[in-house]
Amino acid sequence: MPKIVIIGAGIVGCSLADELTERGYYDVTVIEKGKLWNPGGSTSHAPGVVFQTNGSRTMAQFARQTVEKLYSLRHNGETCFLKVGSLELATTPERLAELHRRAGFALSAGINARVISPDEALKLHPLLNREKILGALYVPDDGIARAVLADEVMGKRSISRGARFIADCEVIGIDQSDGRVTGVQTTQGPFPADIVVSCAGIWGPKIGAMVGMSKAIQPLAHQLCYTAPMLELAFYKNEAELPVLRHQGSDLYFKQKGQSLAVGWYGHQPLPVRAEDILPCELAAIMPSQMPFTHEEWKGAMERATEVIPSLERSEIVESMNGLFSFTVDNFPLMGEWSELKGFWVAEAVWITHAGGVARAMAEWIINGHPTLAVHECDVNRFDTHQLGSLHIEERGAQNYVEVYDLLHPLQPMESPRPLRTTGFYRRQQELGGFFLEASGYERPQWYEANAGLLIYYNVPPRDEWSSKFWSPVIGAEACAVREGVGLFDITTLKRVEVTGKGALEFLERMTTGNLHKKPGSITYCLLLNERAGILSDITVMRRGDQDFFIGVNSNTDINYLKKEAPDTVHVRDITAGTVGLGLFGPKSRELAQSLTRDDLSNEALPYFRLKNTYLGHVPVMLCRLSYVGELGYEIYTTADLALKLWDTLWQAGQQYGLIAAGRGAFNSMRLEKGYRSYGMDMNSEYNPHEAGLAFAVRKSEGFRGAEAFNKVDPNAFSRRLVCLVLENPQHVVLGKEPVLHKGEVVGYVTSAYFGHTIGKPLAYAWVPAELSAQGTRLSIRYFDRDYPASVGADPQYDPQMTRLKS
Ligand SMILES: Cc1cc2nc3c(=O)[nH]c(=O)nc-3n(C[C@H](O)[C@H](O)[C@H](O)COP(=O)(O)OP(=O)(O)OC[C@H]3O[C@@H](n4cnc5c(N)ncnc54)[C@H](O)[C@@H]3O)c2cc1C
Repeated sequence: MPKIVIIGAGIVGCSLADELTERGYYDVTVIEKGKLWNPGGSTSHAPGVVFQTNGSRTMAQFARQTVEKLYSLRHNGETCFLKVGSLELATTPERLAELHRRAGFALSAGINARVISPDEALKLHPLLNREKILGALYVPDDGIARAVLADEVMGKRSISRGARFIADCEVIGIDQSDGRVTGVQTTQGPFPADIVVSCAGIWGPKIGAMVGMSKAIQPLAHQLCYTAPMLELAFYKNEAELPVLRHQGSDLYFKQKGQSLAVGWYGHQPLPVRAEDILPCELAAIMPSQMPFTHEEWKGAMERATEVIPSLERSEIVESMNGLFSFTVDNFPLMGEWSELKGFWVAEAVWITHAGGVARAMAEWIINGHPTLAVHECDVNRFDTHQLGSLHIEERGAQNYVEVYDLLHPLQPMESPRPLRTTGFYRRQQELGGFFLEASGYERPQWYEANAGLLIYYNVPPRDEWSSKFWSPVIGAEACAVREGVGLFDITTLKRVEVTGKGALEFLERMTTGNLHKKPGSITYCLLLNERAGILSDITVMRRGDQDFFIGVNSNTDINYLKKEAPDTVHVRDITAGTVGLGLFGPKSRELAQSLTRDDLSNEALPYFRLKNTYLGHVPVMLCRLSYVGELGYEIYTTADLALKLWDTLWQAGQQYGLIAAGRGAFNSMRLEKGYRSYGMDMNSEYNPHEAGLAFAVRKSEGFRGAEAFNKVDPNAFSRRLVCLVLENPQHVVLGKEPVLHKGEVVGYVTSAYFGHTIGKPLAYAWVPAELSAQGTRLSIRYFDRDYPASVGADPQYDPQMTRLKS
């Protein structure tokens, strides 16, 4: 059994010790530089309000598990979670609409939620201003975590099972040998360990620096005040009975504390603090994670608060605090084993709201090698190098603080720092009026204004206001034009690795579900599975030589996973930044490509799923006969220095074939028509290939990770399935993550959705129970406050015989 050291006894460290010892991992030592059970980190002073609703299903489920767990814990007979419910308030029509959308997120994740009228809201919280409120999102199981008490209960329970908690002991170094941790150095001497888990919260970057790891965490100060007892609350005798409140429109939240109210505010300037500058316990005035309260930053908070709770006008502030907690560059926590140092794990930037679920997933991950929930969004190895610079971390962390309650569209990119990464095609894309969104830090065109003229040829139905954001009808015209002619797509942002060296083939056969024993020049679409046959990724493997592979992967997590598992003789190299990719897709793509090379590109010479190294004009390229949009076409790769030349070569030659540049919007519409799944959206590690409709990508043999579990799955007996829903009304476009209903009951959720411009219908892929997955089954999709009728359709909707791809 491994020796495990956990750094930090905040809510995350204590929850993890509890989860590990519950699973029989008793050799756990929690090292804490403060005093137990209130050691001075963020947990020690947070008000602990818990709103489970989240745009990420994983985060919502972490929250749900946290509530379940804390509610079950007893401290001196009292629960550690006060289930008083929550109300998110709307004072504008836009926010009211947003609350309906958020209700959808909650329902999709199995959380009970509904939008209620102002009168109902007032019944639940009589201090609210009836005149101001248009409605509220009510989640009855939300409430208040009594986090410090929970820490004590979980800590003592862990100790009773064999764990040790060492207080007043600071970790000052991490020992390592041969690429793995061997223990920690502390102010009380060394502690050997096979696994070290950093649960150090705002001090995370400091612990990271001990092993040379940059963590994308930014500690930020956040202000909160408590009122004196209020006359209006005199009636209440308990710690809290009223629902917790959020008034996102004014960046405010509230909780009752006996006869007082706590008011928290995100409306001030972000106040970043460097982890190294946080004072040690002995020098901190109150506790290390608290800064002096600044009246300057509180200006305006109470005026806004009074708008929704008028009685606050007469209230007096008697307690104020300025506490530190962590924000990250993408708003997700950091979880998992760092790929650069075996045995070094992280669980940081975690709110109290998610701590129970995060700890459960971490314990499962450490013990079984994979958590039950999909955690790819939170994987500590997900970052690109550019995301790990201190300036970037500070700027994006601060922006996430500012936007914490903002009403954000799912496609809305961050505004700064931009542009950051650009491909070699950027200049040409700008000239064509590209509308850029951000992908992996790259500027990526969603559509090109230069194609607006195409709208006279194609009928693109209008959309509602919300789904029209970051959208243009030009997207529809581009999609249709590509299906009839030929389009050029920038696919550089998709990640690429090279896997080479002795044993590369055997390594990839072990790691992937593909049959890769094919001649060099072959292309194989296959999966990475975990031991449970959950899908870790879908990848495209190009065999360039006997032991030379070029692989299109989904994320840095994939790359780090392959690196970590590769034997010494096999080299896994991220070649994304040094290469570029263009998709040349459409029925005229072969003619166009052929006009630029003397090599034979006929269907016989270069069939579907084969590659050829050739030149297009002067540019050396790897020409891969595949397309993610379901048309005849090629993915074309070359080195980054030749990007512009490649674009110009194709562009010039393409004029006589009517070549257009097409954006990601058209790409997404076309891929959905063809039923091509997108990892992270349509499937993840919670699903197996049968359920996701990807069993065709799994070879029939043993010998690859996940094979045993996969071969045990009865393909006729699983309980859920990814299906293609076709919405009945062409103007009913949904965007993804909406709940799916059957006879008024929530039965599933939408993954990807887009209008299929070739077939003229809106599509939505969705997870539904197997018994509701038969074609023709009538369901509905809840979009804001409306239920859109839809039925299970053929999968795919476009060219199921693959004739266009293989022609
Ligand atoms: C004002 C404020 C309000 C908040 N409100 C809410 C809320 O309402 N709801 C919510 O969900 N979240 C809220 N949060 C966020 C939440 O408090 C934190 O995200 C959460 O408590 C972090 O828990 P943790 O265990 O990761 O970190 P911490 O509680 O900070 O624990 C980390 C521990 O690690 C120890 N440590 C660090 N370095 C070392 C070392 N070198 N050696 C030994 N020990 C070390 C520290 O002493 C500390 O005890 C709020 C935060 C603040 C500041």
